[in-house]
Amino acid sequence: MQILTADWVLPVTKSPIKNGAVVVDGSKIKAVGSVAVLKEKYPAAKLLAYEKAIILPGFIDAHTHLEYAVFRGLGDDLSYVDWRILLSKKETKLNAEDWFISAQLGVAEAIQSGITFAANISATEAGLKAIKQAGLRARAYYEVIGVNHKDVPELVRKTVAQVDKWQEEAANSLLSIGVAPHSVYTVCPPLIKAVGELARKNGWPVSIHVAGSKDEVDFIKYGSSKLATEFREVNKWGNVLWQPTGVTPVKYLLQWGLFANDLLAAHCLHVTENDLLTLKKYQVAVAHCPKCSAKLGMGIAPLREFLQHGLRVGLGTDSPASNNTMDMFDEMRVGLLLQRGLTQTTQNAEARQFVYLATYGGAQALGLEKQIGSLEAGKEADIIVVDVSHSHQQPLADPYSALVFTANQEDVRLTMVAGKILYQDGNFYSLSLAEILNRAQKVRQKLSLKLEQM
Ligand SMILES: [Zn+2]
Repeated sequence: MQILTADWVLPVTKSPIKNGAVVVDGSKIKAVGSVAVLKEKYPAAKLLAYEKAIILPGFIDAHTHLEYAVFRGLGDDLSYVDWRILLSKKETKLNAEDWFISAQLGVAEAIQSGITFAANISATEAGLKAIKQAGLRARAYYEVIGVNHKDVPELVRKTVAQVDKWQEEAANSLLSIGVAPHSVYTVCPPLIKAVGELARKNGWPVSIHVAGSKDEVDFIKYGSSKLATEFREVNKWGNVLWQPTGVTPVKYLLQWGLFANDLLAAHCLHVTENDLLTLKKYQVAVAHCPKCSAKLGMGIAPLREFLQHGLRVGLGTDSPASNNTMDMFDEMRVGLLLQRGLTQTTQNAEARQFVYLATYGGAQALGLEKQIGSLEAGKEADIIVVDVSHSHQQPLADPYSALVFTANQEDVRLTMVAGKILYQDGNFYSLSLAEILNRAQKVRQKLSLKLEQM
């Protein structure tokens, strides 16, 4: 048994506890309360005491691609579509081992940043293997891409075989498996429909990128934008017919049946009031990735409308490839500032609310709020400790404010998943960071850009 103590404990679903403690028994939380009471009640528990620190549930990254970590910083000033084209050109240079090393880098960063759960979308097994090896909790969504109608039966067969294989590999781990048709511009309608039906039949959760950019809206509605031309040429889809549909990406997905699934939709930036009503009607959850969306010039998501419509919302980093870091403090801070700037008010964009989105909100979006996302007796012991002792953080007025307005990923002192310490004060217990960095550097050389491409 272990007892973690700090100046503040944020259960998230209840009020902050000054001089709080969390008791961990095996992989579960045994008790949450005041230091004085819990120390007396559990005198034999191993003490992990933190001063000028905050204990809170681990962050839930509701949308990422861990094996893209090695792409960090490539095409930083490109728009979304140009960046996506760059990725399509570069990603063929990596082999299975390279993807694994890249995923290990992503997993290391996640753990060091206090992310205890990652919703990871991937077409390769690299993420799943790196996650399992490091002891992170995650959902691995098998990514499906295909624009050619004649390939649908084969792709459906492959999806069934891959998900079965992944489920076998995930047995006795902290992983669960889902399926992710990549997006409306990379998956043809019959494939979206077939994958949705498969997922419903087998009870697989589904995730998809939706309405992430104006280019995507123009492609679906009018058959225009670079997604209809250069992007398809690069992917050798130039000879596959695409006809404009005249509807929004959300309406389009509705027509192809995907909303009948347990669905987590990433982005949802370009949505109409009707789209929002559709998302609510079908209880679609949203992975909100504010920093990635702003960086790639995709837009600002209507978070206030998501919440007003009662949608379940979690925060996602969308990987270092698009975002440069997997820093959930950054996501909270940037997300909050963008909403305040956009709406010209501080109402409904408070620090507490963003800590909620980064933890319990993510758990709700993934349908896992009974197991993770808050500090409560009986829940999984996925816990982090954040240092708030620095000159840029003191004096501390409010623990929620301190986390959102002053903290960064390097302020995480401890990351615990299922009662096991994966990271503490610079030390990793389930991976070798030096080895991963060294190997990742070699993989990165395969992706180097010529000056004229930058
Ligand atoms: Zn994504």
